Amino acid sequence: MSANDAHWPVVAPTPQGLLPLLGRRPRLLLVDDQPVNIQALHQVFAADCQVLMATSGAQALALCRERQPDLLLLDVQMPGMDGFELCARLKADAALSHIAVIFVTSIDAPEQETRALEAGAADFISKPFNPAVVHARVRAQLTIKLQADLLREMAFVDGLTGVHNRRHFDARLLAEEQRARRGRSGLAVLLADVDYFKRYNDSYGHLAGDDCLRRVARAMKSCLHRPTDVIARYGGEEFGCLLPETDLAGALAVAGKMEQAVRGLAMVHEQSEVAPVITISLGVAVLESGLRGEPGALVRLADEQLYAAKAAGRGRVCARALEG
Ligand code: GH3
Ligand code: MG
Ligand code: MG
Repeated sequence: MSANDAHWPVVAPTPQGLLPLLGRRPRLLLVDDQPVNIQALHQVFAADCQVLMATSGAQALALCRERQPDLLLLDVQMPGMDGFELCARLKADAALSHIAVIFVTSIDAPEQETRALEAGAADFISKPFNPAVVHARVRAQLTIKLQADLLREMAFVDGLTGVHNRRHFDARLLAEEQRARRGRSGLAVLLADVDYFKRYNDSYGHLAGDDCLRRVARAMKSCLHRPTDVIARYGGEEFGCLLPETDLAGALAVAGKMEQAVRGLAMVHEQSEVAPVITISLGVAVLESGLRGEPGALVRLADEQLYAAKAAGRGRVCARALEG
């Protein structure tokens, strides 16, 4: 395996298009207040898709949050939340906006079709439908959706280690700092740097160095358990973590666990002056509730703490709370 294919699927055209790369069956959500319509569509897709069903807009929205379908086949006219409203809600929600929507409706009017596309739908199918046509259109939209997923992932994921990249870290940091200030909740930033990594590369070669970075990333990631926690490759052999709603004691506990986890990998490093194995140094900065400080101050403080950990002998954690 080369350095760059640890994470990316190989995007080569196949006779089946991109769908086989998904590694699972595409997830389709059928939304219609008439069960008989759902039944008809179910027959078209049961063989090659995982099919979810909802008979109201509210039920569909809940299923989208829970199951993250790839594509919705959506009826326009439903009591309560209609198709247009559901589609608009999906498109307005950052966590759901990438779900593709195709309207399926018996109203065959250009205004309806226009309204559907303006609400963010990818396509519009009139009832009664031809099964082969519906199947082909869904397939086309699934392929586009998968390509978009892949590009989004490549834009925000580090190709070597598979954790997020600096771009994602910076965007999340900005959002989390604002949220922490608004909500007067805590936010912790951790910066970690591999000790004597230049010597490791020099002794064992760059491929071994790359492999080491992958294993360090995985070990650090295994110490994070909340879905809102972020770990990213911050620079060459540096990693950054964001821990929302975490105080100094909590952040110190996580950083200590990370230090131990990396040490526990027992990757031999004979040239290190810290230990006979790979170690990391960590700097921790915490924004406690109600504190101010300008944007960027938190990462700067974490960087200072990382430098302090290096100066104090490496293979350790230094931490401070940001003064308001
Ligand atoms: P310190 O303990 O003070 O952190 O020393 P260090 O040797 O780890 O720090 P230094 O900044 O001098 O060296 C970092 C090294 O990391 C140099 C560079 O070749 C290596 N590096 C950066 N990115 C990569 C990468 O993607 N793969 C590999 N194999 N090495 C990398
Ligand atoms: Mg460094
Ligand atoms: Mg280093």
